[in-house]
Amino acid sequence: MPRKKVLISPENLDLKQLELPTDQDASGRSLGEEEVELLIGAVQSGVLTATKGSYVRSLERGFAGRLGVEFATACSSGTAAIHAAVAAVDPEPGDEIISSPITDMGAIAPILYQGAVPVFADVEPTGLTVTASSIEACISERTRAIIVTHLFGKPCAMREILELARARRVPVIEDCAQAYLAESGGRIVGTLGAIGCFSLQQGKHITTGEGGLVVTNDEALGRRIRLFVNKGWDYGGPQPDHGFLALNYRMSELQGAVGVAQLAKLDSVTESRIASAKRLSELLSKNKGLETPAEEPAATHSYWRYLLGVNGDRIPGGAPALAEELGRRGVSSSPNYIGRPAFQCGLFRDQKTFGQSRFPFSLARPEATDYSPERYPGTFEGLARALVLPWNERLGAEHVDHIGRSIQEAISMLGKDSE
Ligand SMILES: *Cc1c(COP(=O)(O)O)cnc(C)c1O
Repeated sequence: MPRKKVLISPENLDLKQLELPTDQDASGRSLGEEEVELLIGAVQSGVLTATKGSYVRSLERGFAGRLGVEFATACSSGTAAIHAAVAAVDPEPGDEIISSPITDMGAIAPILYQGAVPVFADVEPTGLTVTASSIEACISERTRAIIVTHLFGKPCAMREILELARARRVPVIEDCAQAYLAESGGRIVGTLGAIGCFSLQQGKHITTGEGGLVVTNDEALGRRIRLFVNKGWDYGGPQPDHGFLALNYRMSELQGAVGVAQLAKLDSVTESRIASAKRLSELLSKNKGLETPAEEPAATHSYWRYLLGVNGDRIPGGAPALAEELGRRGVSSSPNYIGRPAFQCGLFRDQKTFGQSRFPFSLARPEATDYSPERYPGTFEGLARALVLPWNERLGAEHVDHIGRSIQEAISMLGKDSE
C-alpha cells in the first residue's frame, strides 16, 4: 500500500520509519532451511499425493500428538476443514447451525454448502466473540451444531458454552484458525468441543500457503471427516466405496512437507506472539482511551491479531481517525475490523446460492434469517470501537516499542486537532 505523504512539521521530524515485519512475506514468517529440506525430500520421493506419501501423515500424527487428540486429518484449507466438520455432523437440509457474524466467510459458506442455515449469534463488544447467552437466544428445535470462532486467538468463554451445548445436546465445532495453542480452562482450544478446525493459510500462526487441519476425539466423527476429504473413498480400507456425497479436499505432500517443518516451530512462534502482545499491552496500559485485550485468568490468548478497543469519547474520531494517524507513521491497522458483519454481505442480503433457488435459505424459519441491526447490539458496538493491528512472531521489542510510541503520538495529535 502506498504511504500517505507526510508534511514535515516539528511533530513528525523525529519519526523513524521503522519497517515492520508482515505475515504477507518472508519478513513476518518463519520459513527457512527446515521447510526447504523437507520440501526437497518430498519432491525427490516422486510421491506428491497424500494417499501414497508420508509427509501429510506425519503432519497429522504430529498435530494430533501436540494437541493430545486421537484423530487429525489434514485438508486443503481452513474452509475445507470447517466443511468437513459440518459434513461430519451431517445436518438435514434446513437444519440450523449457529455461527458468529464476526468471522471469516470460510467458517460460514460450508454451512450453506451442506444445506444448513447459518444462524448468527450476537457477539460481546470487547472481544467480538459469541457467548453462551447470545448462543442460547438462537437455539431452536432445528439447531444441529454450534460453531464458535476463537477470534484473534482469544478463546470464547468455553465453560459456559459447553455447559449450554451439553444441556441442549448440540455438538460444538471450534474454529481455531486464529487460535493455535490458545487455552481455555487449561485445555488447548480445538480439543474442548466435538471437533476443532485449523487453517494453514499464509497469514495464520503456521502456514503451508493454503491448508487446513481437523481434529476430534470421536472415532465416528473422525472417520467421516477423513472420508469427506477423500471423496468418500476409504483408502486402505477392506472394501472401499464412495459411500456418501463428498469432495476431494486433500492436502498435497508438498504442503505436508512444509507443514511438518512449520509444526516444529508452532510453540516458539506462539510464545513470541504472546510475549510481544503483552509488551504492547503494558506500554498502552495507562491510556484511558484504549482498551487492551483482556487476559482472562484461566485462559491463554495466542494473538493472531491484536485487538484494541478505541473509546471515541476520549479519542476524537475514534478507531478510523487513529488508524489514519497510524498509517502516516508506517503502522498499518484495520479500523472496524471487517467493516460489517457477515450477514450484511451480498450473499445474505440477496440470498445468492444455487441458481435462483435461494436454497437452503428457502427452508429457513423467518427468525433464523432476521438480520435486523437491533438484534445485534454487541456486534455493531464492537465493530465501531475495534482497531485491529496485524501481528506476527517476528515482531521484536523494537517493533513493539515503535508501535506503542506511534499509538501514543497519534492519540496526542488527534487530541490537538480537536482543541
Ligand atoms: C482463515 C480463517 C478461515 C478460513 O481458512 P482458509 O484457509 O482461508 O480457508 C476460517 N475461519 C477463520 C476464523 C479464519 O481466520
